Amino acid sequence: MSGFNIKVTDVRGDAPEAPDAGGGGQAPAADETSAGKISINASDLVEDRYHRLRLIKWWDQQLLADTTVVVAGAGALGNESLKNLALLGVGRLIVCDMDGIETSNLTRSVLFRQGDVGRQKADVASERAMEINPDVKAIPIEGDLRFSLGLGVIRRSAVVLGCLDNIAARVYLARHAYRMGKASIDAGLDTVNGDVYTFTPPEGPCYECRLKEADRKEFRRRQSCLKMSRSEIDLGGKVPTAPTTASIASGLQSQIAVRAIHGLRIPTGRRLGLYGMSDVFFDITLEKDPDCPTCGWMECLAEREVFESELSAEANTLGDLLGVIRAQLGSEEAYLSLEDDREVIVGLTCVCGARRDLVALAGDLSEDDALCEACEETEPMKPDVRSQFDGSEGFNDKTLAELGLPPLHIVKGADPDGNEVLVEFTGDLEKFFG
Ligand SMILES: [Zn+2]
Ligand SMILES: [Zn+2]
Repeated sequence: MSGFNIKVTDVRGDAPEAPDAGGGGQAPAADETSAGKISINASDLVEDRYHRLRLIKWWDQQLLADTTVVVAGAGALGNESLKNLALLGVGRLIVCDMDGIETSNLTRSVLFRQGDVGRQKADVASERAMEINPDVKAIPIEGDLRFSLGLGVIRRSAVVLGCLDNIAARVYLARHAYRMGKASIDAGLDTVNGDVYTFTPPEGPCYECRLKEADRKEFRRRQSCLKMSRSEIDLGGKVPTAPTTASIASGLQSQIAVRAIHGLRIPTGRRLGLYGMSDVFFDITLEKDPDCPTCGWMECLAEREVFESELSAEANTLGDLLGVIRAQLGSEEAYLSLEDDREVIVGLTCVCGARRDLVALAGDLSEDDALCEACEETEPMKPDVRSQFDGSEGFNDKTLAELGLPPLHIVKGADPDGNEVLVEFTGDLEKFFG
């Protein structure tokens, strides 16, 4: 539709010149106000919910309505970002959190009420986001995002927001985003300081690049091991902080996300934030580490073809999946490879020689679950971990969900000649997104 132009006088006065967002290209600067006029389409005169947003020159409300965003973590930061994205009319929000609401969350969580204590954060945050804006569909994922967020969900999302309280979850989220080649914007809080890390994989550094070797070693050890206790995962979310800092960090995070959705340039490989005791904003360029376990070694799958199978994590088995992989690769020797993704514990062995067969995800089985019943040994049994399955393990009747694979996940099949296929559990699409 051809619009007609209306001159609007800038009532805010001269805005300071917008600095470049870094890395070249065109920043969506405060240009409409500094130019003193904006251009309005006839549809912009309709005073609906989104009227003031549509007046922003580069804004595309329909694009936002058609967009999915993953918000990992529904604590102080997640509450703020979900509130922002719901107000902005982002059509689909994937809300991941494994925890319940505690009374101490109520000082920093705009979406939670006293009566919500004891309920799941992901559930309540989703309900409230849809209450703020009924145009929004929020989908809760209750569980550990390392295991419960399917890569196919990220594949269908424009951007991934990290609103987490521990480094372990951040690393896994960053890996998921890296593997799907999605921009990830990770916010963090510490007392009155707040910051946002921005990454646009596969270019530039990733979140894991900044970790020290000792931290990486600990992750590698933990990845093939039993579950970390809450006290081992940083401070288990008990970081001293305030809602004011969460608003600032999430506000910045949400605004960068909206620009990313519009295809506008966003800072990449940067740490932006506020020193809250001196009101100084900082902007730090991050370095790529060639030895980084994620971006230095893992493959970004964004450009690879994905086979959209009819498989569903709940309804189909490992045998079904191997059938699809073998048909796709034309090889009866093809197997499922979960390398770079997750490891499965297929048994526990005690020093006394006793063995217990089971299927559980490495990193998701607690030490208490791994105590020997045959002897008095107080150390947990040693997990037998594997990441490749060819059907000889005796698990062909186990569902994909029982093997710890989430709905809409994407897995890799391979054959001995080195051919590979990426298989998505696309049978979950309808049920997951509705
Ligand atoms: Zn990296
Ligand atoms: Zn024993």
